[in-house]
Amino acid sequence: MSQFWSPIVHTLTPYVPGEQPKVTNLIKLNTNENPFGPSPKVLAALEAEANDSLRLYPDPNASELKNAIADYYDVKVEQVFVGNGSDEVLAHTFMGLLKQHKPLLFPDISYSFYPVYCGLYEIESELIPLTESFEIKLGDYHKPNGGIIFPNPNAPTGRVLPLSEIEALLRSNTESVIVVDEAYIDFGGETAIALIDKYPNLLVIQTLSKSRSLAGLRVGFAVGHADLIDGLERIKNSFNSYPLDRFAIRGAVAALEDKDYFKQCCETIIQSRETVSQALTELGFEVLPSAANFVFAKHNKQEAEDIAAKLREKSIIVRHFKQAKIKDFLRITIGTKAECESLIGALTDIIKG
Ligand code: PMP
Repeated sequence: MSQFWSPIVHTLTPYVPGEQPKVTNLIKLNTNENPFGPSPKVLAALEAEANDSLRLYPDPNASELKNAIADYYDVKVEQVFVGNGSDEVLAHTFMGLLKQHKPLLFPDISYSFYPVYCGLYEIESELIPLTESFEIKLGDYHKPNGGIIFPNPNAPTGRVLPLSEIEALLRSNTESVIVVDEAYIDFGGETAIALIDKYPNLLVIQTLSKSRSLAGLRVGFAVGHADLIDGLERIKNSFNSYPLDRFAIRGAVAALEDKDYFKQCCETIIQSRETVSQALTELGFEVLPSAANFVFAKHNKQEAEDIAAKLREKSIIVRHFKQAKIKDFLRITIGTKAECESLIGALTDIIKG
């Protein structure tokens, strides 16, 4: 606490990211990173970018990257916004589109950065409970609102909604922005990007941190009607002209170009997810159906927090949330095949004692 802080600083409850341990010999299954490195073509592009041009600012508009995203998803370049990770894109969205005179609606169990942005930008919110089986029920969002946001697949549950249900909500909720946070969409969901020309109030946000193995580069983007994007640009250009550096722009373009590598990584992770889910079930876990690169699982006897501590003693880290409704669950990122085998081996020891 400091007397020199602006008053709002005293009111903030900052987001706490999953641990990034300093030791290297851990099996790290706690922050949903990709277990595979970026495409070799990305690494080559980054090496080529390490040259004298670094003395110059990057393109403030990151046009090369916006064009690559527009080509990839078959949208117009003015329908694309890019930022320093999707967290920054989300932050600008909260400030530029979701700060309205009615409450912002989002699921009670969801990405825990949403309430943090509400605190930062002083946005009123209303939490909509998940169903007993931890599903988002979009029928419950038919109420006065200044905006709606939810991840699809949801985090940390991994459960996915079909596009038809999202479209039904878009058809009925036409007076406020609906944001679909698709951080994990490439692991099993259907993107809502195809709907942006039909619904001018739809914003879809994605990241290169997960399916494209670039969490360390910090690149996220949003796709939506040009007027929504223009609003985000106004916020961005009032905040930081150069959120994406030269490496981020080049690396992200190269990642989008290497479609084969991307496809292969996603397929491997999806296969491992099914293997891990099956093995966990056999060990007495209830595993929610996941369309993401992680599973959310609860053991029928042992406490999640204890299991997490015991895994840690065996150098494996997973994520446990203290929130009452989900305190019995562990969120486990899908690793390489070898990492998944170590996880199941360690859990077998812990559960069977
Ligand atoms: N949305 C969701 C649902 C997430 O889980 C994450 C990762 N923590 C993000 C957005 C942000 O990812 P990034 O800033 O790395 O793009």
